[in-house]
Amino acid sequence: MRRTLYDDDHEAFRASVRTFVDKEIAPHVDQWSTAGITPRELFTTAGKQGLLGIDVPEEYGGGRVPDFRFNAVLGEELVRAPDAGAGLGIALHNDICVPYFLSYCTEEQKQRWLPGIASGELVTAIGMTEPGIGSDLASMTTTAIRDGDHYVVNGAKTFITNGIHADLVITAVKTDPRHRHRGMSLLILERGMAGFTRGRNLDKLGQHAQDTAELFFDDVHVPVGNLLGPKEGQGFVQLDENLPRERLSIAIAAVALRAGRLITRSPNSGFGTGSAPAPSAPMPIISAPVSPSRRGIRAGSRTVEGPAPGASTCSAGVAGGGVPNPTRDMSAG
Ligand SMILES: Cc1cc2nc3c(=O)[nH]c(=O)nc-3n(C[C@H](O)[C@H](O)[C@H](O)COP(=O)(O)OP(=O)(O)OC[C@H]3O[C@@H](n4cnc5c(N)ncnc54)[C@H](O)[C@@H]3O)c2cc1C
Repeated sequence: MRRTLYDDDHEAFRASVRTFVDKEIAPHVDQWSTAGITPRELFTTAGKQGLLGIDVPEEYGGGRVPDFRFNAVLGEELVRAPDAGAGLGIALHNDICVPYFLSYCTEEQKQRWLPGIASGELVTAIGMTEPGIGSDLASMTTTAIRDGDHYVVNGAKTFITNGIHADLVITAVKTDPRHRHRGMSLLILERGMAGFTRGRNLDKLGQHAQDTAELFFDDVHVPVGNLLGPKEGQGFVQLDENLPRERLSIAIAAVALRAGRLITRSPNSGFGTGSAPAPSAPMPIISAPVSPSRRGIRAGSRTVEGPAPGASTCSAGVAGGGVPNPTRDMSAG
């Protein structure tokens, strides 16, 4: 049965993502799973094919379509790869990190970072979790103390998706350690800053091809121009505004993964390459949980599909057909 969430443009985009997954990811997954990481070039290849920065305005080299259903299609197709972790970094970059840059960057910051984010030259990550601090984020202990034109950052993060490849890490810090939520800010830490080092690429139970790493900050001097938002103390609110889209992205991947595995296990489907035996329970019974989850995703995708704050110039792309512009890099040069 055709899903009503998507129209012909989304399905055309799905076909191009499938080609990307079949050609650029699937043949290499075993090797990447063993290595525990995808090659960095996967991001630039995805960028050239118009799969990064879908909702980034065209003036910054993006796909100019603030329609989260394209992100959803990408997320659903990326988990078709034999190791679902192989495309996870791309989904995190697009779905979870990009909104912070669109919503909170100054014009100067946008010009500095968005073109690289859309092309894949700049890989992004978000660092919230610390050793010993997960759900209770306001207890985080990484500090950023103002010293003239810089913040001096000290602390550590762990479980950071894209941690090894990341060039730009949206880092949750305490600019005022006396406070919990009100003391938090988001700072962009950049590859190459003195005192910013990577720790282990962590072993996981699944998602073996996705790098998930520790990050360490030892007196890292970060320019005040790398603060996200107009003033300190906005970090918790900024996270709160964007975590729903993160949860939706994770849900889309999880439901697609489950639906795909069920189809893969169907003896008649011809989908996928799974060699698992046919399910012992009838398909309608074991696939039942997927439908309500898809209804939730439909509602969620429609809720977030409006233009991102500060991205009003994107509307031209929707009026012009609503398909991300896959040739943007070629025209850029
Ligand atoms: C593969 C992977 C990738 C990740 N990528 C990132 C990333 O890119 N960036 C990042 O910052 N983090 C990342 N994380 C970390 C992830 O966000 C944390 O694991 C998560 O925030 C939970 O923290 P925790 O593991 O310390 O669990 P805990 O906070 O210790 O929670 C353990 C359990 O207790 C429950 N619990 C906690 N507090 C309460 C409470 N007050 N009441 C009731 N129940 C409670 C939780 O729901 C959970 O079930 C990643 C983790 C994994 C596994």
